[in-house]
Amino acid sequence: MKIKNKKPWLAYILVLRFPLILKKSTLMVWGDTIYYEGEEKVIGHLLEHEKTHIKQSRGSKWIGLIWWLRYCCSKRFRLKQELEAYRVQYKASGDPRVLMKIAQDLSGQLYGNVCSYEEAVKMIKD
Ligand SMILES: [Zn+2]
Repeated sequence: MKIKNKKPWLAYILVLRFPLILKKSTLMVWGDTIYYEGEEKVIGHLLEHEKTHIKQSRGSKWIGLIWWLRYCCSKRFRLKQELEAYRVQYKASGDPRVLMKIAQDLSGQLYGNVCSYEEAVKMIKD
């Protein structure tokens, strides 16, 4: 796993679908690399979230391209992938306050409003 502080070219295509992806604080994964342009150090449980996406795309840039394609096209696929990552993140945090924040994120604009906040809380906890 690598961490780079500059978004890859793929982000400039994905931004057409996910406008928030180019925000400095938004992390993204492609292949075995986590891309993050924020100033602060990546928090441990956030890192676990991103590592889950690396596993989902087998740490491969080619599989990662297909993963991103499905992620863009299918709301159901996107929710499934994010839910797995958020469950790992929540467990890793061991902090109930994290649940509120990540449920807001999962149900928010970043992922194209894939579910409601209440659904997100329930699904992440399950
Ligand atoms: Zn994610």
